Amino acid sequence: MVRKATAKRRREPVTGHRWTLLPRQMLSALDAGLRRVLPGRCAFCLAPGQAGQPWCQPCFEALPWNLPACPRCAEPQPSGSLAGRLCGRCLEHPPSFDRAWVPLRYQDEVASLMQRFKFQASPRAGSVLVAMLETRLADIPHPDALLAVPLHPNRARQRGFNQAEWLARRLAPRLGVPLWLARRLEDTPSQRGLDRSERRRNLKDGFEVTSSLSGRVALLDDVMTTGATLDALAQACRRAGAEEVEAWAVARTPFSQLW
Ligand SMILES: [Zn+2]
Ligand SMILES: [Zn+2]
Repeated sequence: MVRKATAKRRREPVTGHRWTLLPRQMLSALDAGLRRVLPGRCAFCLAPGQAGQPWCQPCFEALPWNLPACPRCAEPQPSGSLAGRLCGRCLEHPPSFDRAWVPLRYQDEVASLMQRFKFQASPRAGSVLVAMLETRLADIPHPDALLAVPLHPNRARQRGFNQAEWLARRLAPRLGVPLWLARRLEDTPSQRGLDRSERRRNLKDGFEVTSSLSGRVALLDDVMTTGATLDALAQACRRAGAEEVEAWAVARTPFSQLW
């Protein structure tokens, strides 16, 4: 019986389905693993990295840069839009921050890098994000202070770490800027599933900055979505004495992708 079954199996047409997919899956898992751990190599394609940077030049140029974007809220604008022109939302309801610097769009390689950082707590992915921010912020005047968007302690415990603070703690010394911490006043319900005005209400007066601020303050988040969180924190910074507030984040989710 056993021999018969073996013979029968041999006569079955070989589609190659199972046997070709398995090694490919294994290779791509191995490849993804290598990308995360190999220092000196491009974080995206494994080619030798550019001197001192965790990427190669072609991959860096192919990243989803947030251009053109609204200078006030960093909302991605259609290609061909006039650089420096405010978006319709900012013309009607400008946010509490004066301008936004968000170099990348939350898509493609940037989205997967961000997910590795956020959900797998990958320090290699986090370091690449800090390096990207630093590169794009090199040409703008440094602020007088940097403030990371705080998580409520309850949620920090659930998720394990505050990724905005992780980025800020590494970025601040590289820019030579002092880092200040703000506090969430209450455990606001999760922002997920709320529309823009609900998010604003959810976060109204949700932050406290205990230090007294002055001059220009930059707020840092990992991903900027509606900007409601940064808006609420900007209000708290103004109450604490900041004269100018900027919103910084690594990547921007366009409104059009939210709902
Ligand atoms: Zn590369
Ligand atoms: Zn805008």
